[in-house]
Amino acid sequence: MESFLTLQGEGAYTGKNAFFLRLAGCDVGCVWCDVKESWTVGEEQHKSYDWIREKLKTEAKGNIVVVTGGEPCIYDLNKLTTVIKEEGKRTHIETSGAYEITGDWDWVTLSPKKFKEPVASSYQKCDELKVVVFHPSDIAWAQKHAEKIKNKESVRLLLQPEWSKKEKMTPLIIDFIYDNPEWGLSLQTHKYIGIE
Ligand code: SF4
Repeated sequence: MESFLTLQGEGAYTGKNAFFLRLAGCDVGCVWCDVKESWTVGEEQHKSYDWIREKLKTEAKGNIVVVTGGEPCIYDLNKLTTVIKEEGKRTHIETSGAYEITGDWDWVTLSPKKFKEPVASSYQKCDELKVVVFHPSDIAWAQKHAEKIKNKESVRLLLQPEWSKKEKMTPLIIDFIYDNPEWGLSLQTHKYIGIE
């Protein structure tokens, strides 16, 4: 759908130089989705691996490539991660986990959505669990997802206020983290500083 150089706005790599590859197509249907234009795929959006290679060579200045969507895991991502690694970059992915995660990933962000729950294998492949909090009950819902991760100690557990609800949800999340120090706060910092 689009590709761009930016700073990673969310999660454990916040503030890092990151080249985003946003794949078109998603059937998860989150009501608060901020990239609804990514849900459909047009014929003109099909790109070759050579096109991606060229983008990485000319525009990806750091060593992190973040593959996002849409929901990137609707595709077989093995070849894509091979291409990214051949260009000497780290492979990061952001997924709802609703489909099997394919490919060779250095960092997997699992961001489960109520509208299509993650498949069981997603919990064991993630390095970071990032739950968007739209309603106070989402905090307990996040804990239920964390319980499904076997090696929880090595996974970053993050709660992120949904942008339109941040004034109400952020204080609740902060209070929760005071009592549950294994969790951390993730903010959409790119929106605060007005970058993509
Ligand atoms: Fe939007 Fe992501 Fe939800 Fe798909 S999974 S609807 S792209 S927020």
